[in-house]
Amino acid sequence: MDFFAPRMQRFKPSPSQMASARVRDLQAEGRDIIKLTAGEPDFPTPDHANKAAIALMEKNEIRYTPVNGTLPMREAAQLKFKRDNDLDYGLDQLTAGSGTKQILFNALMATVGAGDEVIIPAPYWASYPDMVQLAGGTPVIVNCGQNNLFKMRPEQLEEAITENTKWLMFCMPSNPTGAVYTPDEMRTLADVLLKHPHVHILTDDVYEHLIFDGHVFSTFAQIEPKLYDRTVTCNGVSKAYSMTGWRLGFAGGPKEIIANMCKMQSQSTSGVSAVAQAAAIAALEGPQEFVKERTANLQHRRDILFEKLNAAKGLQCDLPDGAMYIFCSCAGTLGKTAPDGRVIENDTDFTMYLLDSVGVAVVQGVAYGLSPYFRASFVAPEDDLVRGGDLIIKACADLT
Ligand code: PLP
Repeated sequence: MDFFAPRMQRFKPSPSQMASARVRDLQAEGRDIIKLTAGEPDFPTPDHANKAAIALMEKNEIRYTPVNGTLPMREAAQLKFKRDNDLDYGLDQLTAGSGTKQILFNALMATVGAGDEVIIPAPYWASYPDMVQLAGGTPVIVNCGQNNLFKMRPEQLEEAITENTKWLMFCMPSNPTGAVYTPDEMRTLADVLLKHPHVHILTDDVYEHLIFDGHVFSTFAQIEPKLYDRTVTCNGVSKAYSMTGWRLGFAGGPKEIIANMCKMQSQSTSGVSAVAQAAAIAALEGPQEFVKERTANLQHRRDILFEKLNAAKGLQCDLPDGAMYIFCSCAGTLGKTAPDGRVIENDTDFTMYLLDSVGVAVVQGVAYGLSPYFRASFVAPEDDLVRGGDLIIKACADLT
């Protein structure tokens, strides 16, 4: 008899964590590895957020917190949604969790069961299908090709909807492609959703502020007020404020759904750490200008890596409009032979070849539901982007 529960068979461990383990093994052997795998910005926590956390500790006010977040936390989320998204949420329509990931997890666990379908545009953040499966539902993957910059077309959405569809999970800017839908593109998707009132929308807006070249962020409840009553808008402080380790996410949505998300959280982690909430409140309510400066810095690093990847034989990528990643095609390397005799048959082979031959780590596209691609993060020191890019060019030139 297997000791582990059947639910453990329904999902996989995170692929990027597996890739990180391989990098650690090579580093332990003394290899110099350039990591283009980071899933978090490398800026420090804003000073005013650190100070707010320290002040709370000095007051010794660190107790259990309400499951849906402290009142000041919900007020800060309320202010943020109004300021950034022109969305009005009552304090009973808001909740906080230990990261956007927990918020998404709560929403799925609270609503999805056997027979329920959740539409997930691919390439997707690797956790989505596994979370849906863990909840007992069925992910319905919609393949969004590079020919439309990895964005879902309205007719694809229409085709994926059935009477069993519970949610559309929608991440924008996208991890792993950086795709940003224009407000017009959002409008055409919203028009499809309006025709299907049983479909709810779970947005993952965690990369909202990492947006380049003057592109504009929008989210469904804002684009179409008629979708407000069936949208849960999720966000967090991880990417915008570079506060990944604080573990703070939040959401606004219909009262009943939010209450059920809290019910789920109440029997797992309960309220988020008081210290994390104090820091998040300061970040959300404090100055916002520095976020733009950081984003401009990321855009500069994006441009360095973009130029290098497109200069490599067999690789081709488009400029991402947001997030922190380039999703690059390696189709032109397939079928080629490496100097050590191995043949590149898929994107996993290609990424392993890069790692073994020139010591550059990226993540294979298959982990995000689309091949043959790889995800390269431009959150790395500029020197690493230049050196790593040149090594990728060399590795590609060595294929015959
Ligand atoms: N959503 C996406 C698309 C992500 O890429 C990540 C982190 O990489 C998260 C959510 C997790 O965010 P948080 O740190 O707020 O849990």
